Amino acid sequence: MRPRNLSHDTRVPLPFCLVPSKFPSRWFYLARELQPYLNQVLLDIAHSRDVLKECLSSTIEVDEFTSNIYKIFEAVDRLDRTEQSSLGLLRSDYLLNMDDSGNVIGLKQVENNAIAASFGGLAPSVRHLHEFVLEKLGQKAFHHLLPENESDYELARGLIAAWDVYDNPSSIILFVVEEVTYNICDQRALEYAILDTEKDVEILRCTFKDLRTSAILRDEKLFVHGKEVAVVYYRTGYVPEDYEPIDWETRFLMEKSRAIKCPSAGLHLACSKRVQAFLTREGILERFLPQDIADHVRQVFAKQYSLEMTENGDRAIKLGLENPDKYVLKPERDGGGNNLYGEDVKTTLDRIKSTEERMAYILMERINPPAISNCIVLGDCSPEIGGIVCELGAFGIILGSKKKIFKNNYGGHLLRSKRIDSNETGVAAGFGALDSPYLE
Ligand code: ADP
Ligand code: MG
Repeated sequence: MRPRNLSHDTRVPLPFCLVPSKFPSRWFYLARELQPYLNQVLLDIAHSRDVLKECLSSTIEVDEFTSNIYKIFEAVDRLDRTEQSSLGLLRSDYLLNMDDSGNVIGLKQVENNAIAASFGGLAPSVRHLHEFVLEKLGQKAFHHLLPENESDYELARGLIAAWDVYDNPSSIILFVVEEVTYNICDQRALEYAILDTEKDVEILRCTFKDLRTSAILRDEKLFVHGKEVAVVYYRTGYVPEDYEPIDWETRFLMEKSRAIKCPSAGLHLACSKRVQAFLTREGILERFLPQDIADHVRQVFAKQYSLEMTENGDRAIKLGLENPDKYVLKPERDGGGNNLYGEDVKTTLDRIKSTEERMAYILMERINPPAISNCIVLGDCSPEIGGIVCELGAFGIILGSKKKIFKNNYGGHLLRSKRIDSNETGVAAGFGALDSPYLE
């Protein structure tokens, strides 16, 4: 990746685990099997104003960022374009969960990511690296235990499918990127996979700042630097700091256009923590899936509570205050480093319990993942063997409108690991290491 503390043109290896980490095949394959169902539910929600309103009405009162996205969603939804497609390059993240005696009893979902879900470009390289390391170590007949991973090409095929649905061979794919992209090699890997698959599509990388002057709308078509845009792929825009006030106008302009957004504002909201908490409520998943499949999917949901100013919200606050170690308090934010654990759950709940600020959080049952041994290799630290915890990401690709689904599939995986003493797993944010699963 591009390091934060060296010159702009320097690249350093991302932290990685020296050998792949053991992961139970049963739970690996479950994540893979469930992904198309999750894709479908999230796209259905993205297209449902009633559900998004029901879930987010209290959050948007106290959270300006979510409110800005919601306003864009509502304004465009009023245009009632049933044929307008959205693209989801989603990633559903999971931890293994242990009972109190330390037995792994299942897989629990941490969250759904809809915007700028990263590392699909690089995950396959880590698998190759691990294949090489195991061969060097003299390990025999292991290849079937390192599952194939085509996340780079799968995500590329998702973007190309959207470009095909837009149906103008001279149109381009736009990557909306940060002013400085640290995770540049991941984004380039995806870009090169697109070019390897479809030679005739042009890809343009633009920042919000650039788009302020270069993006225009003509007959509902989006043009950037004079080129018609088929697909808008966001690799930025997931935290408030990504926007100057004027950039919200650009996001609205792009959302109003006929270009296929990855994600649309609706899909971005469908993957909010608040909607995730809503989906764990009794009887909700059945609105979107047949009963037997809903039951199957529900096994990966940890208990989650929204903290509205209601009796249910009060009950959840009481749960968190009485057992702070059993819960994680999460604000409606992506990007890592925002969650609260242990004593911080208690002090924060105490502080916000009587104010509307609490509506900006959800309380989630704390997952209890097993520790295994591995060696994280990173930058200029000497490598040490130690306890790590693995987080599995399942990529999901969905493309569709209110009327029609064009594509819905699992799109490869990602394993990220963190030291047991760290609460967060974000690799680019400096919390974790790239890894790959060794099935057992
Ligand atoms: P973000 O959107 O910031 O990535 P996440 O919900 O993914 O937020 O949480 C960040 C990290 O916190 C996760 O990668 C995971 O390691 C840890 N985490 C989140 N929820 C839980 C939970 N319920 N139990 C244990 N750890 C959690
Ligand atoms: Mg996360």
